[in-house]
Amino acid sequence: MDRKRYLKKIINEFEDWWVKDPHSSNVDFYQNTITASKLTSLSNKEFVDFFYDFVSEGGRVQSGGDRTKNRFRNTVKKDIDSFRKFVLKPFQAKFSLEDWFLQLEDYPGFGVGIATIFLNRVDYKKYPIMNNKTLKALNKLGYKISSSKNWANYKLVKKYQDNLLSDFSTLQNYFKADALNHFIVAVYQGQELISDYLQIENFENELEQHEIENNVEIDSVEINKEELLKKITECENDNSEKITINGKTYKRHTYLMVQIKKYRDYKCQFCSTTILKANGGYYIEACHIKPKAEGGKDNLDNILVLCPNCHKLFDYGNRSNEKKSKAAYSITINENKYKASLK
Ligand SMILES: [Zn+2]
Repeated sequence: MDRKRYLKKIINEFEDWWVKDPHSSNVDFYQNTITASKLTSLSNKEFVDFFYDFVSEGGRVQSGGDRTKNRFRNTVKKDIDSFRKFVLKPFQAKFSLEDWFLQLEDYPGFGVGIATIFLNRVDYKKYPIMNNKTLKALNKLGYKISSSKNWANYKLVKKYQDNLLSDFSTLQNYFKADALNHFIVAVYQGQELISDYLQIENFENELEQHEIENNVEIDSVEINKEELLKKITECENDNSEKITINGKTYKRHTYLMVQIKKYRDYKCQFCSTTILKANGGYYIEACHIKPKAEGGKDNLDNILVLCPNCHKLFDYGNRSNEKKSKAAYSITINENKYKASLK
């Protein structure tokens, strides 16, 4: 599947939604209030009220200011001058984004989500928004990013959003790019579109694995466990996206999963099931112990090889007592205990 073409399709549908949704009419909502002169001219009471409303309304971008607004009011009231100085900094010529970002922890209730919305309201061509929705959406769009709202990830968000903006000029700025994240994560139509996209991608990965198993590995069936482990380690340490075998290019991830399944004898690590296919090969699935979206790696000690039943049990069952070391993994799911070697 051509990723860019599919994304184009999602973005076209997003454009139809965007013009009808309040997001588009809120683009310039703070045009006359979030300016250096206006924020300087407010009386202390007006200033506190303005930011209290801003946090409560999630900057008219995100919901859920309810939990933090009272904590935030105490923070601002304690030292209005300090907070006023802080929010005026982004308007200054010598503004250090990194210093500002790292200073956020001095202002409880003014978290990364609402603070980056504030920055975005200062200049939507300069500052992207980063909240839980952003990180979730970027992962769905195929960008690898963990769920922490830290400085390193903020730089990554900017990089990924720049990438999207340059591929799709109709997105125009970081405010509209954020609305796309909302569309994908929180709007039914967008959720469906992205889920179709991910299913197609999964299916294609499956086909690619099938091809590797049938065309590439056929002549190396006799490879022993030690050599296989060496191959897996090499592949884990290789940072490239693609790998070329016998003149054909595959995704490195797909190739690695084939090796790991083979290393585990295509046998479910929870219940020992094997599924023989009509062509003589075996069907089995691979899943991450620590999800990729949370920074989990494609490494042998983070992958479980499971049959489809155990895979779904692992995904949806009631988990407890999870224990993991470099060598072994154990977990209780729906009151049954499972153990797997990670060596
Ligand atoms: Zn199983």
